[in-house]
Amino acid sequence: MADNKKILCSQCNNPAVFLDREKKTHLCKDHLIQSVEEEVMRYLNTISDLPETIGIAFSGGKDSTALLTVFSRIKADIPCRFIALTVDEGIEGYRQDTIRAAEDTCSKLGVKHHIISFSDIFGSSLDTLVSESDRNACTICGILRRRALEILAREQGIRVIATGHNQDDHAQTALMNAITGDVKKVFAGYGPSTWYARRIKPFARVSEREVTLYAMLTGFFRDLPECPYAITSLRGEVRTLLYRYEREHPGAMRNAALCEEELREKLGGTFRREPYQTCTGCGWPGSGKICQVCMVLRRPSLDNDPHQVREQTR
Ligand SMILES: [Zn+2]
Ligand SMILES: [Zn+2]
Repeated sequence: MADNKKILCSQCNNPAVFLDREKKTHLCKDHLIQSVEEEVMRYLNTISDLPETIGIAFSGGKDSTALLTVFSRIKADIPCRFIALTVDEGIEGYRQDTIRAAEDTCSKLGVKHHIISFSDIFGSSLDTLVSESDRNACTICGILRRRALEILAREQGIRVIATGHNQDDHAQTALMNAITGDVKKVFAGYGPSTWYARRIKPFARVSEREVTLYAMLTGFFRDLPECPYAITSLRGEVRTLLYRYEREHPGAMRNAALCEEELREKLGGTFRREPYQTCTGCGWPGSGKICQVCMVLRRPSLDNDPHQVREQTR
């Protein structure tokens, strides 16, 4: 292609790597990196009570690698320290590689890294639990991973956890909540909790395309195998639908994400958290007598369960 046909950055005339369809602007590598980092800074600046140290939920995948990279590159300009927290679910033939990649990335970035495994705290790997259950692997994993991350954060004295969820994830969740009519889910986890660590999402206003490019351009992206349990789910269908719609109507995903966020902010106060009950299996708060984690692990029917004791003593 002749030079004069090259698409150039709207800010500096270097070759463009990214098109913002909504703003109709192009960005070069440096300006794309800068814009993602500025967005994360902007997000962090909106949080008035950041603690001294926050935990970054770090799976070793693309989104969390990008998040950890941003934090490492802007650390001099942010008011908190950070550590990486990884959960090893125990997925044979998949997780070993991604854990190794995560360790490698942390050592290159000079970030303190802590790992906790399902086997350590629940006494079984995800593989074992899935083989013994008729529930969907992603459901089991989601419930236990949340608890595992919470336990790891407690061990490290962490009260705020940053996750790599991006704008596309939020748009998908918003649409899924609308499609399933699950109003409760819109407000789930909204408002302060004295028990659970607070979750923050610094990529809430960054699209998946930008996050992916950022991860590739900053050099820590690895093309890792996909989780063998990944299945075609409602989220997958919604994702395809939203991409198609975004192409024709740039900004649609941002609007869907913002719409739910605004609902939460305006109406969140009227959807107070239901009072927690104390789970008889593990002592953690839950919505019923037995929490989701214990239901997955079929507790408290198991006698002398060693991991109950370990969880309760934390
Ligand atoms: Zn540029
Ligand atoms: Zn429980």
